[in-house]
Amino acid sequence: MTHWLAPLRQALDSAAAPVRFFFRDDDAGWDDPALAALLSVFEDHSVPLDVAVIPTATDTATATLLRDRIDSGRNDVAVHQHGFAHVNHEAEGRKCEFGASRPAEQQRRDIEYGRELLASSFPDAVPAFTPPWNRCAPWTPEVLRDVGFEVLSRDLSAGRAGIAGLVELPVSVDWFGKIARVPVGPEGRGALLASGCTQGQPVGVMLHHAVMSVDDLTQLGELLEVVVAHPHVSVHHLHHLAMAADTHR
Ligand SMILES: [Zn+2]
Repeated sequence: MTHWLAPLRQALDSAAAPVRFFFRDDDAGWDDPALAALLSVFEDHSVPLDVAVIPTATDTATATLLRDRIDSGRNDVAVHQHGFAHVNHEAEGRKCEFGASRPAEQQRRDIEYGRELLASSFPDAVPAFTPPWNRCAPWTPEVLRDVGFEVLSRDLSAGRAGIAGLVELPVSVDWFGKIARVPVGPEGRGALLASGCTQGQPVGVMLHHAVMSVDDLTQLGELLEVVVAHPHVSVHHLHHLAMAADTHR
């Protein structure tokens, strides 16, 4: 049943060093029932989860859902900021909320106002930022650092800004990743997870609860089962991993 995870099991069995994982679910604020379903999978396996929350999309219902899960201890969830309103500001090219058409000052206002909104429900939010669509302008990392963010999480393919005072912790496996425009599916996902284990970096798995089917949730449960049981794996929150990786502070 879980043959799609065979490459991952193999990679973990032969891993020379412990493999660290983190799981990042994006777009909290959209589709609370789907978020609740995802949280239940993580609850069932007692696995830590980082939830990227869209400040302007988060109403009382979303906040209550997450707060109840966190405060009751049902879920080990850390919340961080996912953009501001998750809207595209680019007239052409790839979608971006913090892209080239938004100067630093405009971005700073959105980021700070978003942080304020988020703090009203989540004063315990960690100082990490995931830009919508995993991309941003070349000046966004400096803006984030200057207003007090410590961690930037994008996709591995975004490269690294490499600025002092901001740790980058990219996701490396997109659950809904595509190769040559074709969705990877379980087998491809298993291969991506396996290759992620051999890079010497934390394996960051990006999820989007709003588009996960029942099958996706079942397979996610299968993955978590492997990850929890394997002696070579540990799962952490991204902020914790970033601080552990930062030797320049
Ligand atoms: Zn998003």
